[in-house]
Amino acid sequence: MTSRFANDFETSVLRTVQRYSLASKNGRVLVACSGGKDSTSVLSILHGAGYSAEALHIDLGIGEWSESNRKNISDFCSDRGITLHIASTRDYFGSSVCHIKSLVQSRSDLTSCAICGVMKKWILNRKAKELEAQRLATGHNLDDEARTFIMNLVNGNPELNLYASPGRIFSKSQSLFVPRIKPLFFMRATQIERYSREMAFPVLYERCPCSKGSFGRTIYEDISSFEEWVPGAKDNIVETFLSLQTKLSAKNRTTTLECKLCGEPSRSGICRTCSMLLSVRSSPSRT
Ligand code: AMP
Ligand code: ZN
Repeated sequence: MTSRFANDFETSVLRTVQRYSLASKNGRVLVACSGGKDSTSVLSILHGAGYSAEALHIDLGIGEWSESNRKNISDFCSDRGITLHIASTRDYFGSSVCHIKSLVQSRSDLTSCAICGVMKKWILNRKAKELEAQRLATGHNLDDEARTFIMNLVNGNPELNLYASPGRIFSKSQSLFVPRIKPLFFMRATQIERYSREMAFPVLYERCPCSKGSFGRTIYEDISSFEEWVPGAKDNIVETFLSLQTKLSAKNRTTTLECKLCGEPSRSGICRTCSMLLSVRSSPSRT
């Protein structure tokens, strides 16, 4: 039987889905499942509420950590009769994540997480288009959003914060993207962990071993320490940016172009994945 906490948690997530019109029960919602607590919770809640949710897992090939994640999400989906799609960088770029990372890193100062993140995003969007998904859901939570807001500021790219929302609405010029939704946008990592543990989801609670010492993880930990001084600091960061967004002018929004090489979305005419791969070899193909 689900506890009162778990019930309230689910209600709150589904309220976000309804309030922001994140998904409808007619179209396929592809949930990007890393095998961790966040995306597994999204998949479980959407599937349980009657959405046509399917899972997409990218096998990153990072040793035992990836093997456990892959097994966990496979077991979870087969237990519940949920369709699971598995993709890898080999399918699209012909090499393992680690191989591409080492090549790119030998020629640039991009971090391991940045390289992996760019490729994951590319595969998620491409696969979602191939599967004609109506929505692509991720497990991003309040803590992730607070971290991204601060990272964008520290990197001198505050305009990127214009796009953060539980559901990204795309204009016609941005139809290259499958609309991305974040049902856990307002949920804290601690709440999600409690929910996932109560539901006994088969997930790993450790972070990716490659992210140790990364900039993103450092900011994440710093923001968590703000909470010792200001309880609710993360909520304040996210709410402040959401309220600022409406005040910032729409003309600040950048248009999305089609990457000249692979056809995926890009800001400059060549997407980040292609520029990265070009620096080491050829780009992926168009659909
Ligand atoms: P991260 O960028 O690792 O913090 O993950 C953010 C979100 O991206 C997760 O909540 C998932 O929805 C998605 N994601 C991360 N890794 C994978 C993966 N290996 N396969 C599919 N989706 C993933
Ligand atoms: Zn490209």
